[in-house]
Amino acid sequence: MADFAVVGGGVAGLVVARRLAAAGAEVVLFEQTQRLGGPVARHDVAGIALDAGAESFAVRGGTVAVLLGELGLSGDIVAPRPGPAWLQPASGDAVPLPATALLGIPADPLAPDVVRVVGIAAAERAVELDALPLPEISADTRLGPFVRERLGDDVLDRLVAPVVHGVHSQHPDDLALTRAHPGLPDALAAAGSITGAVSRLRAAAPPGSAVAGIRGGMHRLVSSLADDARSRGVDVRLGVRVDDAGALPGTVVIAAPGIAAPAGPSRRIDLVTLVVEQGELDAAPRGSGLLVAHGAPVAARALTHATAKWEWLRDAAEGRHVVRLSYDTVPTDPVATARTDAETLLGVRLPVVVDAAHVTWHRPAAAAASDLVVVGETVAGSGLAGIIGHAERTAAALLAR
Ligand SMILES: Cc1cc2nc3c(=O)[nH]c(=O)nc-3n(C[C@H](O)[C@H](O)[C@H](O)COP(=O)(O)OP(=O)(O)OC[C@H]3O[C@@H](n4cnc5c(N)ncnc54)[C@H](O)[C@@H]3O)c2cc1C
Repeated sequence: MADFAVVGGGVAGLVVARRLAAAGAEVVLFEQTQRLGGPVARHDVAGIALDAGAESFAVRGGTVAVLLGELGLSGDIVAPRPGPAWLQPASGDAVPLPATALLGIPADPLAPDVVRVVGIAAAERAVELDALPLPEISADTRLGPFVRERLGDDVLDRLVAPVVHGVHSQHPDDLALTRAHPGLPDALAAAGSITGAVSRLRAAAPPGSAVAGIRGGMHRLVSSLADDARSRGVDVRLGVRVDDAGALPGTVVIAAPGIAAPAGPSRRIDLVTLVVEQGELDAAPRGSGLLVAHGAPVAARALTHATAKWEWLRDAAEGRHVVRLSYDTVPTDPVATARTDAETLLGVRLPVVVDAAHVTWHRPAAAAASDLVVVGETVAGSGLAGIIGHAERTAAALLAR
């Protein structure tokens, strides 16, 4: 009989299963689909292997780099093109995002690149508001109302909301402050202001980019993890949906959204990838891409200029360009809309679309509290760094029992 049964073959389930098996436990992993990895997935567009979902990881804490090292992928960790992402405001031209911000929350509201987005009156008001005593922070504190109270509506709507939406696929009004960034509550307590907290977190961050990728695509993490888990004896069963976790052998680890009761509905996100030919894009007119504020004249919420962001991909695309747009509400004609939106956001005509792909994902809500052993996005928040770190800690705690 297996010592552990893991339900769900996304990154969280694979990490837990691999770690438990590496310590000598007998582990069986059940995945309802025929594919492991969830939104860390590959698709081929115009013959180019691309990430269909996640395409980078946060470098903070070094968690993902340690795992990639164990999987023999250290040499393939790559940094994205340096430089800020851009912001498409509700009106006017796109601007680079402020350099010293975190989730769009500025460390200095009076910095010229912040004033350029929110205006001087809103910037001065933000300084005044953030000088007031900090309110109590609880698990129920939402990021949106908190930022509104500390920095005002303009900073929230014009800066923080587009960035948070790009990272978490959620409006900050719906996002718990504790889930927005793992270090934020402690930094707030230490600094006594939100701008001070952002300064601290930025100063504590290692130099260089906050994110990295894998040469060839993030999806390589899943194939390497799965191969390694199997080589350590994990019994991976694809196409098996678990409805009654109580009937499984051994200690059960839930790594599948939906089994631990969700605290809310999942959120749909549609991605449209275009492979285009357009020499003007060689100059990367919007850096690695843009986040889009509500009210802007496009349906897309964000655009990644993937061939500008990743050098390995630029080489693989052989002169063509890859742009990826994300949508909350799928347009009637996704490819035509994505092309028009990309032209608006990049400020460049795109007459030649070589190939295109449209994929739909669902991001789960946080799990309600339960007695089950749960790993993954529903408890660790969005993002591979947090999910992998939490899964590793959970496996260590299970082994220590
Ligand atoms: C479009 C998109 C882009 C993203 N980009 C990034 C990024 O660039 N960087 C980053 O760090 N994060 C990114 N994320 C977030 C990150 O990819 C996810 O948080 C992470 O992959 C979730 O892993 P998980 O193991 O918790 O869940 P999942 O990967 O969703 O795994 C859960 C698995 O459980 C299976 N399952 C569900 N129910 C059952 C059942 N009853 N029985 C058996 N199996 C079941 C599912 O089929 C699935 O395979 C992105 C997410 C999306 C959607």
